[in-house]
Amino acid sequence: MTDLAARTREILDALGVSLPLVEEVAQQPSRDQGTLVARTPIDGSELGRLSAHTLADLADLVGSAQRAFEEWRVVPAPVRGQLVRELGELLREHKELLGELVSIEAGKIRSEGLGEVQEMIDICEFAVGLSRQLHGLTIASERPGHRMMEQWHPLGVVGVISAFNFPVAVWSWNAALALVAGDAVVWKPSEKTLLTALACQALAAEAARRVGAPQGLTHVVLGEREIGEALVDDPRVSLVSATGSTRMGKQVAPRVAARLGRCLLELGGNNAAVVAPSADLDLAVRGIVFAAVGTAGQRCTSLRRVIVHESVHDELVSRLSKAYGTLSIGSPLERDTLVGPLIDDTAGQAFLAAIEQAQADGGRLVTGGTRADGVPGGQYVVPAIIDMPQQSDIVKAETFAPLLYVLKYRDLDEAIALHNDVAQGLSSAIFTLDVREAETFLSAAGSDCGIANVNIGTSGAEIGGAFGGEKETGGGRESGSDAWKAYMRRATNTVNYSAELPLAQGVEFG
Ligand code: NAD
Repeated sequence: MTDLAARTREILDALGVSLPLVEEVAQQPSRDQGTLVARTPIDGSELGRLSAHTLADLADLVGSAQRAFEEWRVVPAPVRGQLVRELGELLREHKELLGELVSIEAGKIRSEGLGEVQEMIDICEFAVGLSRQLHGLTIASERPGHRMMEQWHPLGVVGVISAFNFPVAVWSWNAALALVAGDAVVWKPSEKTLLTALACQALAAEAARRVGAPQGLTHVVLGEREIGEALVDDPRVSLVSATGSTRMGKQVAPRVAARLGRCLLELGGNNAAVVAPSADLDLAVRGIVFAAVGTAGQRCTSLRRVIVHESVHDELVSRLSKAYGTLSIGSPLERDTLVGPLIDDTAGQAFLAAIEQAQADGGRLVTGGTRADGVPGGQYVVPAIIDMPQQSDIVKAETFAPLLYVLKYRDLDEAIALHNDVAQGLSSAIFTLDVREAETFLSAAGSDCGIANVNIGTSGAEIGGAFGGEKETGGGRESGSDAWKAYMRRATNTVNYSAELPLAQGVEFG
């Protein structure tokens, strides 16, 4: 066993996922149905092996969640909030360990691993407050002696499908809201991040035990795409909340639509920042570097395109290139590392292939774009900047790696047109000190993304706002604001407290 595998076992033990429990969760109730290998991108080594769930297991787990839902939906929402408060407390208590496990399994640097767990704690706090605010409207009735109102009721079983790059936070965004909303959750994590999912499930089960919540409210189902497809197809799953590539969303959405189920899609992005002539370049450089290089460019909100005014182009590119030269690349567990590994070999190859294609399209490689020297094992690459003469097809595609394209513009209309001329619509930003430019970018005629920022980068959203994007990003909204409504069903009620029976629209009948 490698040191990383041994350390992983220690962390799992401390989080309540002892190895026998790993087997029990993974193999319940049947065994030997295919093996899943947990790996670390730090050096590509194995962390452990788990058995995948079968389709029969999945059907049982959804049944168990359905039964738990039937009990949970009649528990008052503020009481449901106590479960999420307990989960938040457990996450606070185990933040260091779970953050380290995220770093080991997803390759995030320590600060980002901890940040992801903090995001889980934040959404739990938000959801606890929300458990007393799941209110509907009272609506004026046109009929005398009548009252109209709406109520928000629990929806059912929520199927969560998540991507490797936010292995724990995405589940918590969904689970914290779903649980206070009165729903049960069946989670299919990425096959690349199985252990962090088991750790979350252990904490959620412990929280449920402490507050006496029904058994079976949360489940994890381990497997590859087929198990995800079966979850998507199950008519007992009222909402499918799927986070991952646009390719996956295009497969999931028609299947859910075929059974008229509900879908919440959080898919790929191709996020851009406009840098205007008036921009504070010091601020812009800092914002751009974090957004483009943080998490080794493996965030859905990572910055992939900079659209810079021709008057500041050379200055910005030179400053960015200098900043890129100072980035430390290496094991995410080392204190001073800023750029960790890509998730796997395929990701490394996609990075190099995109650079080759961009150069074939006339792009000039400004910096980086190679494998990193002196880092053994793992897919470590040197973040790249490519100056592009035009927005070619490769620029319009999401390459999930630290690869930043720079495009020039002359006037703001051209910048906005370039900005919006991609299939994805997740996150966007403008760096400017000109209020007219900033407001135009945020206006209906500006950025077409679900997230539009001024003088900060595209990544690193707070949980208080609704998170998600338009076009091929899928249109879903998670996390803050009124995103909770996706996890509930609305009932409109009309109450007649008179002795008459007037009909709406003045209709007379008999
Ligand atoms: P992926 O699409 O390969 O996998 C995501 C999940 O979907 C995995 O659990 C996978 O097993 C499952 N899956 C794949 N095909 C499926 C199918 N046909 N039916 C059911 N389940 C299926 O994505 P990934 O490589 O893990 O993650 C990277 C992608 O996720 C990027 O495109 C990134 O932008 C996107 N992402 C989006 C958000 C967001 O909030 N918009 C957040 C994180 C990641």
